[in-house]
Amino acid sequence: CGIIGIVGKEEVADRLVDGLRRMEYRGYDSAGVCTIADGTLIRRRAQGKLQNLVAELAKAPAPGDIGIAHTRWATHGAPTAENAHPHATDEVALVHNGIIENFKPLKAELTEGGRSLTSDTDSEVVAHLVSAEVERGASPEEAIKTVLPRLRGAFALAIAFRQRPDMLIGARLGSPLVVGYGEGETYLGSDALALAPLTQKIAYLEEGDWVVITRDGAQIYDAENTPVERETVTSGASA
Ligand code: GLU
Repeated sequence: CGIIGIVGKEEVADRLVDGLRRMEYRGYDSAGVCTIADGTLIRRRAQGKLQNLVAELAKAPAPGDIGIAHTRWATHGAPTAENAHPHATDEVALVHNGIIENFKPLKAELTEGGRSLTSDTDSEVVAHLVSAEVERGASPEEAIKTVLPRLRGAFALAIAFRQRPDMLIGARLGSPLVVGYGEGETYLGSDALALAPLTQKIAYLEEGDWVVITRDGAQIYDAENTPVERETVTSGASA
């Protein structure tokens, strides 16, 4: 339901939760964050109110200057902590808005291939598809190019890679996703409002676009994987 991602120069956990708070008005049933620190994905999730995630983070902090976060409005799978996003493998963590319509055949393929999925969501298959490519030695960009054409339905995605604490990948088809440009930081958000305290400089991804964000900026690609420019606008959302 709500997505935020930060490739930052300072700790991100509190800022990710703040971004989620700004999207609470959309409604949600659970929430989670994943950061990268010391070459490890650090994931915290909680059912119910954001305050439950905040309590979880107080017990077990998620350090790091890069991360993704999500508020979930369940479409497939009960609103439990296990079904909350981010979904993750050892290598990849992912948050998803929307519905992956062909998740059943994809899940069957992954399960038959020996992978164990731990949620009842439609979203987790995407984390595993991307992870399988990365485990085979593909770069994050190569993995995305392979996986996106396999997905049917609607999605906004933000993906973190354990071995790449310098970048996040975003993608959109049928669900909104924006890139925010900061000073030595770059952001992803499903809503410009979520990024309002961080930046007003926003680019709206177009249908089928995907993007690599780093601390230096963003490279956007269209559905044919051609590098493209998207206009940067000043968001009217106020901090
Ligand atoms: N379909 C996904 C799920 O049920 C994402 C829902 C959302 O957009 O929050 O987990």
